[in-house]
Amino acid sequence: MLDKKKNIAILGSTGSIGTQALDVVRKNPDRFEVYALTANSSVDLLIEQAIEFQPEVVVIRNERYYSQLKEALAKLPIKVYAGMEAITQTVEMESIDIVLTAMVGYAGLQPTIHAIKAGKTIALANKETLVVAGEIINELAQKYNTPILPVDSEHSAIFQCLAGEGDNPIDRIILTASGGPFRKKSLEELKHVTSKQALKHPNWEMGAKITIDSATMMNKGFEVIEAKWLFGLKPSQIEVVVHPQSIIHSMIEFSDSSIKAQLGMPDMRLPIQYAFTYPDRLVTDFPRVDFMEFNKLTFEKPDVKRFRNLALAYQAMEMGGNMPCVLNAANEVVVDAFLKEKIGFLQMSDIIENVMTKASFVQKPSNEDYVQSNEEARKITLEQIK
Ligand code: MN
Repeated sequence: MLDKKKNIAILGSTGSIGTQALDVVRKNPDRFEVYALTANSSVDLLIEQAIEFQPEVVVIRNERYYSQLKEALAKLPIKVYAGMEAITQTVEMESIDIVLTAMVGYAGLQPTIHAIKAGKTIALANKETLVVAGEIINELAQKYNTPILPVDSEHSAIFQCLAGEGDNPIDRIILTASGGPFRKKSLEELKHVTSKQALKHPNWEMGAKITIDSATMMNKGFEVIEAKWLFGLKPSQIEVVVHPQSIIHSMIEFSDSSIKAQLGMPDMRLPIQYAFTYPDRLVTDFPRVDFMEFNKLTFEKPDVKRFRNLALAYQAMEMGGNMPCVLNAANEVVVDAFLKEKIGFLQMSDIIENVMTKASFVQKPSNEDYVQSNEEARKITLEQIK
């Protein structure tokens, strides 16, 4: 017999993860119900999604689009709200079972905190939440007994490898990285790459922000920090290996030297679905690995001279406190500036490094400290860009 349908709230439903999550729901209508959809400003797609999935609640963060959304859905029994506060209230609604956090950047933090406090299962796609405030998130998750299930493909891979392992100690984890579109570019060439080039990722289809983060390897740096908090690891236990084919999604080495890996074609619908159905697996028609086609899986050491963001992320993690929050804030601002062609590719790392030395350091930050630190770091970063 099937369990009762799971009610899902999707934060960031119009983004890359959000639309793929809806595809998972679309293919499994007997298992999942879309209860709430939220988006930042892509109002047309949000309207389309609301008409198709008929959720209870729809929220647009940018209040400018409220009347358009309200009008378009006027004939349907859907509650329509706008603004950040409406999002944080929506995630607390009684009937919601799972909250998929797929918003971009720092904006994911406060809604996630609210969802944890309300005891909702978190399908965590917004890695910045753990990068910025991993310690607080873990404390809250423990206090409210809230499961946090990773959606990031590498962390889902680790999570899948952990199934059935009980308390068996982990020696190290190996996070794989595609290396992004600039893996083979020299330092000199990297000076001149454009945002248009950076937006062409070889293996994964993703939003603009994370695609730039992949090109600079900040994405991998964030994932190292994310792994530390998700799996309770020391920085020295987390290794990054460049694996350009993106078939091995990550690996664990246990204390007896045995290594487990999770493999598959790069398709985010799998980790999304696994977070929705954990610990069960569902039948899918997703593309399968053909080992005759991928008959060479290769591995390289990441080059932190060309991709300094990875080193900066390790540094921020070692320093701890609010430093990863500073790192993230500076990164969000420089990525935006790079996308608008205000700064070059390598300048992003230069500026982030500067901001890390200039921002105030807080060893044991509270939630309010994070809010302040985020603001301060953004301000300092903007001054550096001018
Ligand atoms: Mn990832």
